[in-house]
Amino acid sequence: KSLYKVAMVGSGDVGKSALTLQFMYNEYEEEYEPTKADIYRKTIQLDGEEVQIDILDTASQEVCAVIRDSYYRRSDGFLCVFSVTNEKSFQATHEIRELVLLLKNDDRVPFLLVGNKSDSKEERKVPLSECQATAQKWGVTYVETSAKLYQNVDRIFLDVMRQIRSK
Ligand code: GDP
Ligand code: MG
Repeated sequence: KSLYKVAMVGSGDVGKSALTLQFMYNEYEEEYEPTKADIYRKTIQLDGEEVQIDILDTASQEVCAVIRDSYYRRSDGFLCVFSVTNEKSFQATHEIRELVLLLKNDDRVPFLLVGNKSDSKEERKVPLSECQATAQKWGVTYVETSAKLYQNVDRIFLDVMRQIRSK
């Protein structure tokens, strides 16, 4: 079975764990252990083929650059998550993009820009046009998700796997 290694990257509190657990178990909670980093593995059907996905859910508290770099290097694809309610988390995706390009040394690395918490319309801080412009500049796909409402959750995981497959 092919194995697809996907990393959830982004600031803390943006919903990386919520998206991961929705995809893995169809579960949503209000609170997740913020410091917890973990690897999840699941067998799924990708366009009719049985494959394995291995999701590395990182935690921002991982200040040790050596460990962080090894996480990035071991991953084939990246879901770069920010919260549309948090401008700083959007800014942080720029540094993450740079780091991914540096460590993977490949400007066509499988990568999606993911704006999570799209259900929080009142608290939205990052305009859609800004998110789309950034994705276009980087040549990546932009997807808005809600882990809370289970919107576009499967889509981001399947899309990044398809990008890895077509490499
Ligand atoms: P992480 O630090 O990036 O792993 O973020 P978490 O998955 O721990 O989520 C941080 C907080 O945001 C939690 O309180 C979640 O309940 C909340 N959250 C996560 N996803 C969503 C979402 O799609 N919509 C809303 N409204 N809240 C969310
Ligand atoms: Mg987390």
